[in-house]
Amino acid sequence: MLSVDSLQVTYGGAVEAVRGVSMEVPDGAVVAVLGSNGAGKSTLLRTISGTLRLHRGRVDAGTVRFGDLDLTRRDAGQIVRAGVVQVPEGRRIFGRLTVEENLRAGGMGNRDRAAKAEAITRVHDLFPVLRERSGQRAGLLSGGEQQMLAIGRALMASPRLLLLDEPSLGLAPRVIGQIGEVIAEINRQGTSVLLVEQNATMALGVATHAYVLDVGRVSLSGDARELAQSDEVQRLYLGHT
Ligand code: ATP
Repeated sequence: MLSVDSLQVTYGGAVEAVRGVSMEVPDGAVVAVLGSNGAGKSTLLRTISGTLRLHRGRVDAGTVRFGDLDLTRRDAGQIVRAGVVQVPEGRRIFGRLTVEENLRAGGMGNRDRAAKAEAITRVHDLFPVLRERSGQRAGLLSGGEQQMLAIGRALMASPRLLLLDEPSLGLAPRVIGQIGEVIAEINRQGTSVLLVEQNATMALGVATHAYVLDVGRVSLSGDARELAQSDEVQRLYLGHT
């Protein structure tokens, strides 16, 4: 289980991006974090994945634990080895490399060739389009395919917990639906998921539990289906008045 306790994060010693957040992802769960622009969602994920420092952020207080391990302030490589892998916001695939080379880059930490081949097969089975496009330059893929490649690349590290930062960003509704289905399938295969989204319909459809962040604090949390029915979520995130 991932547990974040009383986390406080600032940028440049001034901007308080996360102001005392506590949350959990139980083993085997899909948990969603909703919130508008600037709520602190990406900061929360960066802190968990150890990439906060690249953005000049700092943990001022609180802890991030994964099972028995204290991940607070660990570096990104150690966190990946602990089984927590992030799909970054904006995908960040290597456009000049082929689809296959991108996937292999995600499996670099895995020296076992058989295990790597097995991981590629698993990714290809989840995303048949990546098998079809294996030798193509990744930059030529559509936005949805690039998102699938970014998720596939993260799966190459065989995560126990997958962190997703707004996978629906810039995608057509039909493609967002496909991404939601893939997240559910990844979870059925045994990987826990922490899903940061502005698209509440998709996120609450796939998650069991959800948190709403508002200016760095948790303003609401609970069962995803119940939250989807709540007045505040309906009004703010599902477009109902
Ligand atoms: P978005 O959906 O726009 O990414 P978010 O909920 O993910 O929003 P964050 O990106 O975590 O929110 O931002 C939280 C706060 O921290 C905002 O006020 C933002 O301006 C600030 N912030 C984010 N990154 C940095 C940075 N590298 N340096 C300074 N301030 C930052």
